[in-house]
Amino acid sequence: MAERDPSTSAFVVLFSSLLLLTVVVGEEVGKSGRFPLVVSTWPFVEAVRAAWRAADNGLSSIDAVVEGCSACEELRCDGTVGPGGSPDEHGETTIDALVMDGVTMEVGAVAAMRYVKDGIRAARLVMKYSRHTLLVGEWASAFAISMGLPGPVNLSSSESIKKWSDWKENYCQPNFRKNVIPENDCGPYKPKHDTEVAIKGTLTESCETGKIEYRSSLIGHHNHDTISMIVIDKTGRIAVGTSTNGATYKIPGRVGDGPIAGSSAYADDEVGGCGATGDGDIMMRFLPCYQVVESMRLGMEPERAAKDAISRITRKFPDFVGAVVAVNKNGSHAGACHGWTFQYSVRDPDMDDVQVFTVLPS
Ligand code: ASP
Repeated sequence: MAERDPSTSAFVVLFSSLLLLTVVVGEEVGKSGRFPLVVSTWPFVEAVRAAWRAADNGLSSIDAVVEGCSACEELRCDGTVGPGGSPDEHGETTIDALVMDGVTMEVGAVAAMRYVKDGIRAARLVMKYSRHTLLVGEWASAFAISMGLPGPVNLSSSESIKKWSDWKENYCQPNFRKNVIPENDCGPYKPKHDTEVAIKGTLTESCETGKIEYRSSLIGHHNHDTISMIVIDKTGRIAVGTSTNGATYKIPGRVGDGPIAGSSAYADDEVGGCGATGDGDIMMRFLPCYQVVESMRLGMEPERAAKDAISRITRKFPDFVGAVVAVNKNGSHAGACHGWTFQYSVRDPDMDDVQVFTVLPS
């Protein structure tokens, strides 16, 4: 998870949730089969409460997902969702978001969206008012504004600006470049050819450590997070949604797994739903949430399906950091993770409030 700034309301909300029951799980849980059900990555308790209120009041799963993820954006969950979070190399905050309806298999998504703070609502507008699935960059912003969302607005905050200037002072380390030689500490960069000798002391030396090791060092509890949410509404319809700023210090133009259906989230109400968080540049090569849902379709329980999806990644990328949470159509849920301890949040009719489940890395 990303670091938390005590000055943000997200901090207050998160720690107020210490009163909540925290459960360490190794087995799948939640077999009551009673709906609605809301499941979200991380202890994004207020987001789950918002989605729960919507679903409990009879809203559809898709509307409840939008309410839940939108609450997280407003609270700037962990400083990596919504406006004011994770700056890119240029110091700008951008947003990746997705919604998917597991009944119709419709998807709406925005990627690297600038100047509009409402990522999940923008994704919903793409689904509702276009035949497309994914809009990117300034054109995503223009579409969202033309459909009624506020903007253009500056997505930076004092926290994101400070984070970025500290990073600049640290010679723009760490970063996502590889096999390059910087002309100056922070670039511009040019490709490093095999015959060229690395310049010692700054970024080039770090890049020399090898691509996977170097990339992995960038993904941890301090530079990214995604809310990925699964809702089963009172009638059993399943929808999923995600919202994130993506990876901190990403190269401008980078699109992570957040807006990619099957990677950060996937739903099919004949089977279940899935949410993911972690190193999106790796995960989007494996579509772990598609894998989870399809494994459950073939008969796997959520826990096995989640572990299987993670192990398919770690077999090829042993230093991978990430997690998935799987929910089947009966409401059973389980998580699996690698490289960090993962937590997810749940509210169902048997609970008085949101419960946070902890999954230890396998
Ligand atoms: N998966 C997101 C990304 O890589 C970040 C995260 O979930 O932590 O953009």
